[in-house]
Amino acid sequence: MKQENVLEIFKGTGALLEGHFILSSGLHSSVYLQCAIALQSPEVANQFGSAIAEKFREQGIETVASPAIGGLIIGYEVARNLGARFIWTEREQGQMTLRRGFTVRASERVLVVEDVITTGGSTRETIDALKSHGAEIVAAASIIDRSGGNADVGVPRLSLATLNVPAASPEDCDACARGEVAVKPGSRSTVSSKQ
Ligand SMILES: [Zn+2]
Repeated sequence: MKQENVLEIFKGTGALLEGHFILSSGLHSSVYLQCAIALQSPEVANQFGSAIAEKFREQGIETVASPAIGGLIIGYEVARNLGARFIWTEREQGQMTLRRGFTVRASERVLVVEDVITTGGSTRETIDALKSHGAEIVAAASIIDRSGGNADVGVPRLSLATLNVPAASPEDCDACARGEVAVKPGSRSTVSSKQ
């Protein structure tokens, strides 16, 4: 699956919006991504899942692991396409951990999958949690990399599409300087502007 196809699907489903947005971090950006919107469609989730799985077919992946909540759907689809097991990590008192009775064996070959990598923080924390149980992290993958390829998670990493979309504080935002109003995606103003 080519990067253009991935972005076409994102734009077509409204999962990728272009404009002037306030991100949940408070920073402003010209691109807003909401993977959950694209992944509402099981068919789309399967397309992305099989495209990621294809790249790891020969790597003896036993288990796919994802950080909850963002990684759950895509991770599950990758696992299904690889015939692997699927587990997830989640935060317990701020610390990414394996819960719900999930375990990994020493040297178990694990692929970590996320929906979007921005800084790589959640993927790194998931890798650390699994390594602390002795797992071997083969690689990490995501549908979208919005770090422009810069996020370093300490293992080989791939994404179906790479974006370089800088976010800026309101004081440093070019669109704000031009007097354009920023919107929070999902808020009423975004919905009405699309109608
Ligand atoms: Zn702005």
